[in-house]
Amino acid sequence: MKAPEVIETVDALRARVRAWRAAGDTVALVPTMGALHAGHVSLVELARRRARRVIVSVFVNPTQFGPNEDFARYPRPFGADLDKLAMAQADVVFHPDASEMYPEGFATTISLAGPAAAGLEDKFRPTHFQGVATIVAKLLLQPLPDVAIFGEKDFQQLAVIRQLARDLHLPVEIVGAPTMREADGLALSSRNIYLDERQRKFAPNLHQAMQWAAGRIRAGEPVELAVREAAAAISAAGFVIDYLEVRDARTLAPPTPGQKPGELRLLAAARLGTTRLIDNIAVGD
Ligand code: AMP
Repeated sequence: MKAPEVIETVDALRARVRAWRAAGDTVALVPTMGALHAGHVSLVELARRRARRVIVSVFVNPTQFGPNEDFARYPRPFGADLDKLAMAQADVVFHPDASEMYPEGFATTISLAGPAAAGLEDKFRPTHFQGVATIVAKLLLQPLPDVAIFGEKDFQQLAVIRQLARDLHLPVEIVGAPTMREADGLALSSRNIYLDERQRKFAPNLHQAMQWAAGRIRAGEPVELAVREAAAAISAAGFVIDYLEVRDARTLAPPTPGQKPGELRLLAAARLGTTRLIDNIAVGD
């Protein structure tokens, strides 16, 4: 098992990619904020199938956190992350510090409309997607990989990044990867460690109620009714719901009457105590 090379500067990253390119190698990028779990590892495995070389970036991006969010306490177990990335056979771990990514005088922000203004995450985290778009644009432009892998777990984020890449003609293929879950259905997340024992027991109710609602919609029940009943079950499990909504899976716009379940996505964000969980599933089979 070979430890990945840790690179901390953009210049060194570009030099490494130049050498790979000279040897004819293709390159994949997997952006992360670290605190890696099996979901991240699945992205690295997909990256390995898509390109000869794999870069995993580990950077807790301050600009995508709101002032009252968990930036300071976000877990940063870098040693354990490196072990996982060695197992997953990443070639390079790009681990810049904040001053490398945002040097003094930094003044550019990328903001989007479209999926970034769909009224889901953006309603509750108004500056989040401009932070995401800015850092992802930088992370794509630094190594200029052939392909970059993002999880469907952050479904609105994936739509935002596809829009960003399209609008800026970024020459990188954006690939979405399925959500990895615990056996009880809870989506893997670096934030699950915030849950206490009792909250962890109730946490899978979110996904279970979402699956139930999707099943009812597939069976012909009106969307609003299925969503209302699922919301009641989620609240009864102790969650405070930020949103639980069915949207067009491609545009994230509200569904039009008669739209087929196969074109729809059910998206949710809900809080258990101070921990905010997000999840989404296809409504169709
Ligand atoms: P994060 O470090 O949590 O910002 O996530 C880095 C990447 O991993 C993003 O593209 C996420 O969508 C993806 N990701 C997070 N959780 C999961 C999961 N449970 N399954 C698959 N991918 C995930």
